[in-house]
Amino acid sequence: MNSTALSRPVVLCLSGHDPSGGAGLQADIEALLAQGCHAAPTCTALTVQDTVNVSDFRVLDREWVLAQANAVISDIPVSAVKLGMLGSVQMVDTVLELMQRLPGVPLVCDPVLRAGGGGALGKDDVGYAMRERLFPLSRIATPNLPEAQILAELPEGSADECAERLLPHIEWLLITGGHGDESQVHNRLYGRHGERHEFTCARLPGSYHGSGCTLASTLAGRLALGEQLVSAVRSALDYTWRTLRDAEQPGHGQYVPRRL
Ligand code: PLP
Repeated sequence: MNSTALSRPVVLCLSGHDPSGGAGLQADIEALLAQGCHAAPTCTALTVQDTVNVSDFRVLDREWVLAQANAVISDIPVSAVKLGMLGSVQMVDTVLELMQRLPGVPLVCDPVLRAGGGGALGKDDVGYAMRERLFPLSRIATPNLPEAQILAELPEGSADECAERLLPHIEWLLITGGHGDESQVHNRLYGRHGERHEFTCARLPGSYHGSGCTLASTLAGRLALGEQLVSAVRSALDYTWRTLRDAEQPGHGQYVPRRL
């Protein structure tokens, strides 16, 4: 038999399940496959939603999430971790506990609080707990501007103002600008030591379901492959933009990124 050891880096994904297939774990798996990584998906929550909006969600018991992730961690070397929907403050603490088993492994935190259609996927308290307890462990967080405004508790704050509030908690922060209405999208990367990078791209028409998940999991994959952070951010933004350019509308609502 040929040697079958997995040479692709493994990314542990802790995210919710979206039955429409646009966001959540399916987005993570597809985006990571496209980078040449292997996704190890641990489900944190189930959602009820279509491409228009979310109608309900249920966060899994902490024991179930620990059992899923611990099984993977005991068996497979993990090169990066990607966090998506956590859904409860207790799940934030569960992730904290899991990360103690993965010292030094890069953590990419997508602070998911709302679905693309605006429906809640967790109370703002979940975001504050992420900021206080998970940001210090994370290599980078990837909020869009509305999420950054919630996390920074600055409802009208600019990206720069939000970053100033959030950087004491985290090493790198990527605030994406896809939710504005200018013809260009400004994605801003901030480093704790004063680094600033701006990545601008053309705004695409339409609204998308799973763009944030695609970006954060691609970034985790790129870090797992050993790419340097600024370059990994650029690669992840470029790939995500292409998946949106090629997006399809499977139902009556938002477009779903074409990741493969
Ligand atoms: N995670 C789950 C499970 C979701 O259902 C959603 C949106 O519906 C998201 C994350 C966030 O999606 P987006 O990438 O569009 O911000």
